[in-house]
Amino acid sequence: MEGWNVSECLQKVFRQIEEAKLKRTDDLQGREVRLLAVSKIKPVEYIIQAYNAGQKHFGENYVQELHDKATDPKLLEHCKDIKWHLIGHLQSNKVNKVLSVPNLWMIESIDSIKLATQINKAWPNYGLPDSKLDVMIQVNTSRETVKSGCETSELTELARHILNECPNLRLDGLMTIGKYGYDPTLGPNPDYVCLRKCRDDLCDALNLDSKEINLSMGMSNDFEQAIELGSTHVRVGQTIFGERPDKAMWKKD
Ligand SMILES: *Cc1c(COP(=O)(O)O)cnc(C)c1O
Repeated sequence: MEGWNVSECLQKVFRQIEEAKLKRTDDLQGREVRLLAVSKIKPVEYIIQAYNAGQKHFGENYVQELHDKATDPKLLEHCKDIKWHLIGHLQSNKVNKVLSVPNLWMIESIDSIKLATQINKAWPNYGLPDSKLDVMIQVNTSRETVKSGCETSELTELARHILNECPNLRLDGLMTIGKYGYDPTLGPNPDYVCLRKCRDDLCDALNLDSKEINLSMGMSNDFEQAIELGSTHVRVGQTIFGERPDKAMWKKD
């Protein structure tokens, strides 16, 4: 990665997001898009460069790696207002570790009632008094058994549980990864269409305002299309930080 210019790549992604927003249908105009810079496997120096170029939200897949980066003295010194997101699968024995991450902003990978209950119970030991932790429900839209995420049929019950039984959590939205390697030139990604429908059905079922439920979908190869399909939160790694050596690594738990 000699000579990789994080700031330049990031500026380009900022511009691409603005352009994609203009291509949306009228009903989606005016909705903001949040960019999450996915920094897994990349060094702290790159995160600091992106932070200095105006990026505040960062995402990591692995609890240990997130913890190591978030507690790095250099990062703590330079990135005081950083906002960390966990986007990888969370095992119950790692809940306390992730909640102890400084500047933890959101967990995007809630996939069971049990996990939500556990995080809800533990958060008061870590967060500011009376604060709520933002969470997203990860939905397994592609129905691949290797992927984590709740089944679409379980979504309403899980969301209702978070809203009614987890006073220390705030439901921010729904997240999907989608089928690996889908070619966006083939047309709208079925996983993103599915997540949008999940959101609409959920909002109908629980009488929620669909504008209040974000959609986390879209990565380096398709974030522009995801924005056109209604994504309000794109997770972009390689386009900002350069290719990762082993692409298979992030598919694992
Ligand atoms: C790695 C990863 C991304 C980013 O993928 P890129 O291809 O690097 O943009 C987004 N979401 C999740 C859950 C990931 O694991």
